[in-house]
Amino acid sequence: MRLSRYFLPTLKENPAEAQIVSHRLMLRAGLMRQSSAGIYSWLPLGFKVLKKVEGIVREEQDRAGCQEMLMPTVQPAELWRESGRYDDYGPEMLRIRDRHDRDMLYGPTNEEQITQIFRDSVRSYKDLPKLLYHIQWKFRDEIRPRFGVMRGREFLMKDAYSFDLDAAGARRAYNKMFLAYLRTFERMGLKSIPMSAESGPIGGDLSHEFIILAETGETQVYCDPARLDLKVPGPEVSYDDDLQPVVDQWLSLYAATEDKHDPERAKHLGDSLVMARGIEVGHIFYFGTKYSVPMKAAVAGPNGESVLLECGSYGIGVSRLVGAIIEASHDEQGIVWPESVAPFQIGLVNLKAGDPDCEAACDDVYGKLTGAGVEVLYDDRDERPGVKFADMDLIGLPWQLVVGPRGLKNGVVELKARKVGERHDLSPESALARFVG
Ligand code: ATP
Ligand code: MG
Repeated sequence: MRLSRYFLPTLKENPAEAQIVSHRLMLRAGLMRQSSAGIYSWLPLGFKVLKKVEGIVREEQDRAGCQEMLMPTVQPAELWRESGRYDDYGPEMLRIRDRHDRDMLYGPTNEEQITQIFRDSVRSYKDLPKLLYHIQWKFRDEIRPRFGVMRGREFLMKDAYSFDLDAAGARRAYNKMFLAYLRTFERMGLKSIPMSAESGPIGGDLSHEFIILAETGETQVYCDPARLDLKVPGPEVSYDDDLQPVVDQWLSLYAATEDKHDPERAKHLGDSLVMARGIEVGHIFYFGTKYSVPMKAAVAGPNGESVLLECGSYGIGVSRLVGAIIEASHDEQGIVWPESVAPFQIGLVNLKAGDPDCEAACDDVYGKLTGAGVEVLYDDRDERPGVKFADMDLIGLPWQLVVGPRGLKNGVVELKARKVGERHDLSPESALARFVG
């Protein structure tokens, strides 16, 4: 993509309305714009990141055996009356009336919808277990939307739902999601810590929040420092294995959010107890038959008896993650994207637009990189080098390839790693060889 043609409205000044760094940087780097309180438009650069985050979430859900589908954003109130949550949910739920005076709502979550679909389609225990998910916009009329996409009113969530015949099966599904979450966040360069948590309006008694530590986080957390050093299990652990020992290993070390913190249980840690702020990026729940009972969701068991479905639900804040990744990875100059979610891998900077040698060299490198499938943002604008460097640092692409007249005379271009700031002079050919396999 040539920057001269790209829609990238960056800001020089810090927007006054943004209190935390990710919000500031998302506005300044032209990732998004506010539409109304807690509701945002995603501009091209931000949308690319959102899609990458979503892609990682999707791959890891698929790998865990979860099947993707898509449910609507707008749901009928009658569905929520069946579960009893239409009245319970409170003012966070956006209630709408259609032209026929039917009560509708913009979904804050989808337990009722999926339970209805499942109940109406599945008859026998032989159809179990199943894990289903979708990635869809949610609306919650948060009392205090703030911090940009971190606490929006409209936000993108991955929500998965498990259906099993018994509690042991539901636990297996829970454990799969537990592992999938560890892997998902790690791929985004985040250290996530599963913590016992309150289950809130979703309900149920087994629940963990996945928290990443950040000063600006809204949740107070307490944990054993050893939790921070645990290694996320790699492919040697398969989803077909018994995952209970893996989960138990994580849960054997103390970690809890404020609501569940028990100083007595954390006492053995003494002064080493980590007390920090965290951002909730995911939340998993086992709630058993909470929805199957009121919604009469049952299948025929092995002996023909009627068995209520055992269920769980599993959320990831996809749009919140974009902000959370920035909170975890930035510096004075701007964003530092981990390679896995970067909107482009390389920023190609032409220091002297209009100079035939620089243009020829840039065009050549650009053509070869994009031809090989590498995503390049080519700053071909007629701007001062200082402006170009500042913009590149602000938008945080992992690599900058700088082409200038002086270097070219010596047969070199400059490669800078955004994260460490290291610069190397090398020939255009060796620079290319780094990225083209
Ligand atoms: P919170 O405690 O932050 O309000 P929650 O517990 O109400 O979140 P869940 O119902 O567990 O949220 O939703 C699943 C995930 O969706 C959360 O872990 C979070 O990452 C994300 N999420 C929830 N509310 C918002 C929001 N208002 N804006 C952005 N993401 C959100
Ligand atoms: Mg939660």
